[in-house]
Amino acid sequence: MARHRVLDVQKYQATYEKYDCDWDMCYYCGEQQEVTDHVPPLVAATLSLDRWLIPSCKECNLILGTQVYYSLSERVEYLRARYPIRYKKLLNTPDWEPEELEEMGYNLRVSIDHHISKKKSILRKIEWLTNFHNLL
Ligand SMILES: [Zn+2]
Repeated sequence: MARHRVLDVQKYQATYEKYDCDWDMCYYCGEQQEVTDHVPPLVAATLSLDRWLIPSCKECNLILGTQVYYSLSERVEYLRARYPIRYKKLLNTPDWEPEELEEMGYNLRVSIDHHISKKKSILRKIEWLTNFHNLL
């Protein structure tokens, strides 16, 4: 096993002990775990490599897809780069003041509220990918 993979496993295990994380959190972004990420991905797995099952949300798992990254650090870096690109348009939408929203019709306000909520969720993921993993 490559040295960086050994360090990754130790870091991964220490994460949950040090920060008292729930095991139902996505390791990458901190959201609710929905699926299990195979590291390395099944498409690249060989019998000679150790494989880990990492708690993940569906979106992180989907974005990682079949990317052949053998370490958790590489996978975190990939997600950290991909989220802002994937949600570039949403992240560039303006922030609305409550007074502005009150002036809008119901349907427009509901639509904007949905976008604001989604934008906050993505910003939370990006912050987690940046700050949490830098602490480790
Ligand atoms: Zn995630």
